[in-house]
Amino acid sequence: MLFEDLKLMEPIKKAIKTKGYTKPTAIQSKAIPPLLMGKDLLGCAQTGTGKTAAFAIPILQGIALQQKASPGRRQIQALVVAPTRELAIQISDSFKEYGKYLNLKTLVIYGGVSQHPQTKDLTKGIDILVATPGRLLDLITQRYVSLKSVKYFVLDEADMMLDMGMLLDVRKIITHLPQEKQTMFFSATMPAEIEKLANSILKDPAKVVV
Ligand code: AMP
Repeated sequence: MLFEDLKLMEPIKKAIKTKGYTKPTAIQSKAIPPLLMGKDLLGCAQTGTGKTAAFAIPILQGIALQQKASPGRRQIQALVVAPTRELAIQISDSFKEYGKYLNLKTLVIYGGVSQHPQTKDLTKGIDILVATPGRLLDLITQRYVSLKSVKYFVLDEADMMLDMGMLLDVRKIITHLPQEKQTMFFSATMPAEIEKLANSILKDPAKVVV
């Protein structure tokens, strides 16, 4: 399969070309078609498989189409939660790269640094938020972040969040999300507790194992 065979909009195809990619990886060719159709996804994949693009590309396309149909004030339409600052930054950079020919704003927030620059950026209006769980929950509690307009929710490296003791925060974050949304859940392994969480938040998901 080639990227040309996926039903992607021109600005996204151009960004992929700029990165020099010609062929989707296994997870991308399996996950992108059901995600473009709006299905939930359970992905069993390690880092290095190309999973970031597998969720970033369909999300960017969905938001860009929506923006074209009804332009309006920027509000958080996609939320990606990842366990570490390094991973969150990588994910945010990927959204910026694949979305470089779209008019969308991505912000990354994480703990261990002053929250002030992050809260300032949040007030400017953003479309895509990438966050680590603790800082995100803090900023939700302080009302700097509202998740009521989220349409796409990604939980990345869920098993690592379990290992790092973040599941309680993640469950609290989920209570702030709207019922109606498309959810993408990624984990390299599926321990019982992770499977339980996946089952409780995914609706009839496409399942991709790579
Ligand atoms: P990830 O698993 O998302 O962390 O991606 C692993 C690496 O593969 C990253 O450096 C990506 O830039 C790269 N990558 C993602 N998709 C492709 C592709 N279709 N062709 C070649 N490299 C890719």
